[in-house]
Amino acid sequence: MYDSIIIGSGAAGSTVARKLAETGERKVLVLEKRPHIGGNCYDRVDDYGILIHQYGPHIFHTSEEDVFHFLSEFTDWYLFGHEVAANVHEKLLPIPFNLNTLYQVYEPEKAEELEQVLIKEYGMGSRVPIIQLRENSNPDIKAIADYVYENIFLYYTMKQWGQKPEEISPEVTGRVPVLISHDNRYFQDKYQGMPKDGYTAMFQKMLDHPGITVKTSADCRDYLTFLQDKVLFLGEEFTGGIIYTGALDELFDCEYGRLPYRSLDFRFEHLDQESFQGRSVVNYTVSEPYTRITEFKYLTGQKDTNGTTIVKEYPFAYTGAEGEIPYYAILNDENQTLYQKYADKIRPFQNVYLLGRLAEYKYYNMDAIVKKALQLADEIRR
Ligand code: FAD
Ligand code: UDP
Repeated sequence: MYDSIIIGSGAAGSTVARKLAETGERKVLVLEKRPHIGGNCYDRVDDYGILIHQYGPHIFHTSEEDVFHFLSEFTDWYLFGHEVAANVHEKLLPIPFNLNTLYQVYEPEKAEELEQVLIKEYGMGSRVPIIQLRENSNPDIKAIADYVYENIFLYYTMKQWGQKPEEISPEVTGRVPVLISHDNRYFQDKYQGMPKDGYTAMFQKMLDHPGITVKTSADCRDYLTFLQDKVLFLGEEFTGGIIYTGALDELFDCEYGRLPYRSLDFRFEHLDQESFQGRSVVNYTVSEPYTRITEFKYLTGQKDTNGTTIVKEYPFAYTGAEGEIPYYAILNDENQTLYQKYADKIRPFQNVYLLGRLAEYKYYNMDAIVKKALQLADEIRR
């Protein structure tokens, strides 16, 4: 009845479903355990008429032409240069820390001098990870690095990961490098912004194809049984492609122990006032128990609003308890070894593919997921 079964309807599952159905002329079944599609990109209108991102603020950004082109088949865009401020002792500083931030932190004359030092050392336009900046022995650069470390990275990272910046994978803090430029944007990608009618509408359109059947509130474990090297679908062997985008340990009842993740508690508030912070995202880098506050109307560009809705993010260690969601893989050697044990268990299954943030245990942005999903669909079709 089906040629392929896809588990999960997030960016990974939806993209691969569409591509297989469209160009592979396949009949595809998508099983999604949540009551809605879209995975963590899911957005919806709240009780006050404001479009919110249920699982945290998602800003689409990419320099990949094929990814942007593919998604543009399913949405128009509200494009803008996303900016974030850090609240440092009540002063709002542009981040990533850049040459404009330098002028807000130091007196003009000193800032000018430091600007020249940074440009000479790294070159205009370069991106320097904080860990690398801290290794510089030049006392001026060391002073800047210490400032950025103490005021932008240390407390935020402790909240987010429960560890210091130097204790987590450099790949993670490297996502927000010090920018030797006057660019206040959080990302430097060519395309950045929001799907005009939201992410859910975009993925809905993507999944709307005669070759695709979507079942929500459908945990794959109620449909699929993984034996030694073959998979049963409702009790019968299924030899078509199975693309799994969920957490890999859960497929095997966490028999080697749980893969560690960080989770987030999103606390939404609707306020009966025009504006709360006047901008989309403020990171709290030296105070407060939450990491950031998002004010949705500024993120989505929504104009017809009464009042405003915000969300605060409180990180915690994922335990696997009912209702918790694993958001961030914790990248280190020990966890990678554990992940590999589960990945080895999948290897004998010739027709099972792992795709996405959870199944690959990686820290992917949306565009990277879509790119990988497009590539996988090509590979399966061949
Ligand atoms: P998911 O979206 O997690 O989808 C996996 C799906 O599989 C889920 O819907 C899940 O319910 C389903 N599933 C799992 N197990 C089963 C099962 N047993 N049976 C059936 N279904 C199952 N990226 C950006 O590019 N820009 C951003 O600004 C950005 N902000 C982010 C903010 C936060 C707080 C987080 C957590 C992530 C952010 N990301 C951002 C990353 C982005 O969310 C991911 O890249 C993307 O959502 C990953 O898609 P995915 O399909 O791999 O995973
Ligand atoms: N980070 C920080 N302070 C900030 C922003 C980021 O310390 O103001 C660090 C923190 O460790 C975070 C990482 O950089 O987890 C990556 O930040 P990013 O904004 O990419 O995180 P995401 O949006 O994926 O949660």
